[in-house]
Amino acid sequence: MVTQPHHLYVHVPFCRLVCAYCDFVTVGGRAHDILRYTDALLHEIEARPAPGELRTIYFGGGTPSLLSGEQVGQVVQAAEVRWQHVALEEVTVEANPSERESPDWDGLRAAGVTRISLGVQSLRDEDLVTLARGHTAREARQAYAAARRAGFDNVSIDLIYGIPGQSPSDWRGVLEAALELRPDHLSCYALQLALQPDEWAAPPRPGALRWRNRVVPRQDDALAADQYRLAEEVLAGRGYRHYELSSWALPGRESRHNSAYWARRAYTGIGAGAHSYDGAAQRSWNTRDLDTYLEVAEMDECPVADAEVLNEQERAFEAIALGLRLVDGISRRAFEAEFRLDPVERYALALAETTRKGLIEVDGDAVRLSPTGRLLASEALISFAG
Ligand code: SF4
Repeated sequence: MVTQPHHLYVHVPFCRLVCAYCDFVTVGGRAHDILRYTDALLHEIEARPAPGELRTIYFGGGTPSLLSGEQVGQVVQAAEVRWQHVALEEVTVEANPSERESPDWDGLRAAGVTRISLGVQSLRDEDLVTLARGHTAREARQAYAAARRAGFDNVSIDLIYGIPGQSPSDWRGVLEAALELRPDHLSCYALQLALQPDEWAAPPRPGALRWRNRVVPRQDDALAADQYRLAEEVLAGRGYRHYELSSWALPGRESRHNSAYWARRAYTGIGAGAHSYDGAAQRSWNTRDLDTYLEVAEMDECPVADAEVLNEQERAFEAIALGLRLVDGISRRAFEAEFRLDPVERYALALAETTRKGLIEVDGDAVRLSPTGRLLASEALISFAG
């Protein structure tokens, strides 16, 4: 019997400073609870089923690099003991490049971490001030160098564009500075602020809302679109393959964990607010509230807040929405094997409309966003939602 791949996401909500633009499940000023939280994660691993073959672990946040190498190692080890089948290909930890919270690089290496995702965001101090990031470009370079010195040969850098006051040439400068470091992987995200309250993973605090209200009118969508195109051009010129809307990688350095999400593989999410998916139709999510999470996990119970079962139509739409994130797009054959109909037939009207607008291309087996469609992915997707 073939054992299906499985993936583990570990959410660590603690941050030294909670950034005003952030919509993740985070808490500031609770670093004293990290020990207790790590213990709760171990309880949760015990309380959950451990299906399939564990292939990747991803510590996201929040700021998972606030955990010591030993604490990360305890979680990795507990997962390796809990899963009957383990063939780890990648263990990623997101890290913040600030001197005041310098990650335990050697400890992380010793814990079995193989990949670092560094939240650089910009290598231009003016941008970091606008974002109130709490670190400088110099600190980001130092953190990158320290990760390399500790022996990490797979380092990803996150960058943000569309920051008010950041011109296309400023952004080009940020990209060039990032490329000087020669990271294995780059994720470039548009600064997204103008979300509706029901889209917030966690409602922003009043101070953060005031900051957003000041910054949103200074954002310029056309400029951000130019910056995205610039990233595509500059990074392609340096050998980085654009494989997902926001992700570029040197050959073989694509994120295996995130690729599993886009391929709709099964994953277990542990920690406050973490989501899980059974690879078929069921999704569930943990309570976001840190205190509730700690109390429930400590009783050896699953801190699941709620779950939903997707019907066939929702699953097909999700296959489209996640598949179109990939630059290679959706395989018509794979879609047909799962949903018994070629997507070109099933979504004939949506495809007629989006191809006419130049947002989607159908090319042999592939249905994918066009270069223009990558800029207007949400608009393209709306046509498939009906
Ligand atoms: S952006 Fe990163 S560091 Fe800032 S609050 Fe969000 S998770 Fe924490």
